[in-house]
Amino acid sequence: MKIRFWGVRGSIATPGKETAKFGGNTSCIEVQCGDKLLIFDGGTGLRLLGNHFAQTDLHQAYIFFSHFHWDHIQGFPFFMPVYNPKNSFVLFGENKLANTLEETLSGQMAQPNFPVALKQLPGRLTFEHTESNAQFTIGNDITIQTCPLNHPSGATSFKITYKNKVFVYASDHEHTDKLDERLVQHSENADVLVYDSTYTEEEYYGVTGQSKKGWGHSTWNEGVKVAKAAKAKKFVLFHHDPLHDDKFISSIEKKAKKAHKDSIAAHEGLEIKL
Ligand SMILES: [Zn+2]
Ligand SMILES: [Zn+2]
Repeated sequence: MKIRFWGVRGSIATPGKETAKFGGNTSCIEVQCGDKLLIFDGGTGLRLLGNHFAQTDLHQAYIFFSHFHWDHIQGFPFFMPVYNPKNSFVLFGENKLANTLEETLSGQMAQPNFPVALKQLPGRLTFEHTESNAQFTIGNDITIQTCPLNHPSGATSFKITYKNKVFVYASDHEHTDKLDERLVQHSENADVLVYDSTYTEEEYYGVTGQSKKGWGHSTWNEGVKVAKAAKAKKFVLFHHDPLHDDKFISSIEKKAKKAHKDSIAAHEGLEIKL
């Protein structure tokens, strides 16, 4: 299993020299399992992944959407491989609102928001509705498990198991006062846990300004609690706040490493091989 980060920022893309080290693109992670390519979220990082994809011999991939906030879908209309009729993609997502996955994705491409409608894309798209607490397989040897997250309009965590290696993607999520036993169980023995680490505790509880409680995101401290309870090996701080520059994220990463040795703040281009 090979994991590569193409977008690590939350909420909105943040280009600029203050964010160049960790990167300014929004949520997008590639997970390669043998010859199959799985993509988690379609934030602006998906555009870069698409440019790379076009250089390979690949013509197929599976795209999983945690939810449909802008920072998780905005790269999709700029994902060049969907404009190639030779390519086919299976899209997965759970929509807790009234619309189907297809309707939701076509919404952001409808006039006057975007000039090309989803239905006009030459690439072949198949839509698969996912449920919370579901389990299904891709090919013979990739198992996907879902777990609901605590986020406005809902979000889904995906757990991928391939050849005894386990990857868990858990963004966007707000913790509560009690440890989320469901998420702990879902993350059990993960080799990699990617967790919504948008805020510091000071920001979350309003020590350094307006409290961010109820905004749908978590802190690395809460993520480390989940990682420790689940015996997850590598803890990845993800969904960096747009207000956090490189210096600030580096300082957070240092603190996280003290709490959980194998911690890393995700940056664009980060690769983890399992
Ligand atoms: Zn987000
Ligand atoms: Zn969100």
